[in-house]
Amino acid sequence: MKKFTRILIANRGEVALRILRAAKELDIETVAVFSEADRNLLHLEYADRKICIGPGPSLQSYLDIPKIISAAEITDVDAIHPGYGFLAENAHFAEICKSCSIEFIGPSVEAIRALGDKGKARELAKKVGVPCVPGSQGILPDDKEALRVAHEFGYPVIIKAVAGGGGRGMRVAHNDVSLVNGFLQARAEAEAAFKNPDVYLEKFIEKPRHVEIQLLADHYGEIVHLGERDCSLQRRHQKVIEESPSPGLPEETRQAMGEAAKKLARAAGYHNAGTCEFLVDREGKFYFIEVNTRVQVEHPVTELVTGIDIIKEQIRIACGEPLGYTQSDIQLRGVAIECRINAEDPANNFKPSPGLITKFQAPGGFGVRVDTHIYSGYRVPPHYDSMIGKLIVHQRTRDEAIATMRRALDELKVEGIATNVPLLKEIFRHFHFLRGKVHTGLIEEYFMG
Ligand code: ADP
Repeated sequence: MKKFTRILIANRGEVALRILRAAKELDIETVAVFSEADRNLLHLEYADRKICIGPGPSLQSYLDIPKIISAAEITDVDAIHPGYGFLAENAHFAEICKSCSIEFIGPSVEAIRALGDKGKARELAKKVGVPCVPGSQGILPDDKEALRVAHEFGYPVIIKAVAGGGGRGMRVAHNDVSLVNGFLQARAEAEAAFKNPDVYLEKFIEKPRHVEIQLLADHYGEIVHLGERDCSLQRRHQKVIEESPSPGLPEETRQAMGEAAKKLARAAGYHNAGTCEFLVDREGKFYFIEVNTRVQVEHPVTELVTGIDIIKEQIRIACGEPLGYTQSDIQLRGVAIECRINAEDPANNFKPSPGLITKFQAPGGFGVRVDTHIYSGYRVPPHYDSMIGKLIVHQRTRDEAIATMRRALDELKVEGIATNVPLLKEIFRHFHFLRGKVHTGLIEEYFMG
């Protein structure tokens, strides 16, 4: 069995530190890359080698493929871990890694191509009998076709970019006028953000839950699912709080979703870690929406309930090791909940608030995990995503997990910049959340005034 000697981490922030920690425990050397705006990143202190790859803006550093490949070649790494965001779902990057004989820690180029495009993933899901949200057959050529499909299924509908991500390139429409406008806006936004204007249409499901299945697959045909995560607590279609298991999800639905996700992954020849996302409507029916062909921000909740280190598994699988366990070995224990801590100002329409963190005090104690790269004296640069860390708790029951999270949020101190912690504290006192009555519109409905 080959083993990696050295890997390059093509990312920054908390996930770079997370990957570095996993690699260290596997006795693998690490190469960190960083932009000129990121000289103060915590993981640079622990990496075996560090290489500056250019100016702050991501296009000139973390998204600059030639620079990352050069750094990998200079340091003679065996593999690159892309983390999430940046190049993590970029098939072209995975292809270049392959042509340079560098292992891309993730699925194959073909699997990224088959599932990374939401339109193609939807077609494959339909073909193998995984239920999809009713909607258009493939991409919409023009607004006339959008109107025709909307009339067929009835309003409201949602226009989505095939290349979309992070809640961008999406528009909800309740009538013909907003549909035509939404069609044009979604196309323009998708072209600007992803250089691909193609959009499709789905029936807009009202007040659904977002429930996703974590998958791990090796190169020898073994695929397991690690249960689900409920990511219904969202603001502008972006996740804020995630938990596992999904409160109140019937066991047979969990199993059916797990099997559907596995079926889709098998059809795409998938290996490594991936997530199959679904919406669950108010009748408890589930519909496939997309696959994320990478590790996700919210992976820790699954790690806590399964005891499986997903990043280590990704590295092991990329090395060619078999999983070494099957579905019946996977047991879910207790309840884990994650809060994303963002440098943004709830009092100012959640505007990003980069700047100097004058004081950071992390919570701790039983059942508390903090995944972050920040420290007192760290300056949050303005160039990147506003997430500065994750607070995760694990307890035997949901009520205990909520009590631990409340206590941890009270202990947490981030001073000098604004954060979303006040909003998180409110949510952990909200009657619907406490009863597990969550849906994707809950934050907008109760907290956005
Ligand atoms: P992205 O890739 O941008 O994250 P997704 O397809 O994963 O986009 O959807 C993100 C969120 O948008 C979902 O969790 C849900 O809240 C909302 N959404 C997407 N499709 C629908 C739909 N058909 N009906 C209702 N809400 C939807």
